[in-house]
Amino acid sequence: MRKILNIGSLNLDRTLYVDKFVQAGETVRANELRTSAGGKGLNQSIALARAGATVIHTGAIGCDGEFLRAALENEGVDVTDIKKVDGANGQALIQVDEQGQNCIIVYPGSNNSITPEQIDNSLKRLQAGDMVLLQNETSNLSYALSAARAAGLYIVLNPSPLTDSLKKMNLGAVNCLILNETEAKGLTGCDDNSPRQLISALRKKYSDTDCLLTLGAEGAIYISPEKIYSCPAYKVKAVDTTAAGDTFTGYFLAALLKGEDIAAALEQASAAAALAVTHIGAAGSIPNFAEVEKFVQ
Ligand code: ATP
Repeated sequence: MRKILNIGSLNLDRTLYVDKFVQAGETVRANELRTSAGGKGLNQSIALARAGATVIHTGAIGCDGEFLRAALENEGVDVTDIKKVDGANGQALIQVDEQGQNCIIVYPGSNNSITPEQIDNSLKRLQAGDMVLLQNETSNLSYALSAARAAGLYIVLNPSPLTDSLKKMNLGAVNCLILNETEAKGLTGCDDNSPRQLISALRKKYSDTDCLLTLGAEGAIYISPEKIYSCPAYKVKAVDTTAAGDTFTGYFLAALLKGEDIAAALEQASAAAALAVTHIGAAGSIPNFAEVEKFVQ
């Protein structure tokens, strides 16, 4: 089977469950604190592995991050290319409110230690037809894009979190962008909330790139130069949407790697993400393949 290399973040997540998000100048009391393995990179590797993909993860952990390597290894992810560096691990402070919505502060820490040399060494392990998955929580993203392009690989970018430097980056090397509404608006400059306007802005700006736009409880839309696919979300009671997008990304790409078509891949991703939002937590809420199969029966 084709492989996927995920050059991605590995974070220590501290999740605080609150009645409502803290506002400027305010102090609020959290009802619960949970610490867990997280980071967009780690979550997406776990989703890929649970969906049955062959995953290599390239990343960097700090002195307190050995449990992150173990978390991926337990899922069957190849962790050979995760290095350990001095200093603190990447960390995320996550608030989850009563509606299950989240807001997140990320400290990059060790994730900023990924070097061009490390990227090159990992890319050498891939063959034509393999995929490279990138997010914006690790250093040398621009280098990774051009090196993966030079190696002739299929490149998927989840432009999250969206930063000014990412907005200025040339994304011409990307084959598929997986992004939510906020990221689509930020990248295209479109300030209209309607999916129709967002689709048109994405098609205009990224005419040669496939775009997978996720719309939370409204589902997802895949825009290719030839065709638009739309996939409604399952109706479920959301308790925590953390990692919904990461679950969607992992399941969607794993299905493509297994040879499924876009419509089937969207369907599997939508089911997996719907299951994820019915559970509290990030990586812990990502379902395994058997649970997804049972859910769609
Ligand atoms: P996050 O950053 O929280 O991981 P995101 O903003 O990247 O998420 P979303 O667009 O919120 O991604 O969600 C990704 C997918 O998850 C959606 O396209 C949908 O299929 C599913 N999903 C999200 N929220 C819900 C919900 N409330 N009910 C059912 N499915 C949902």
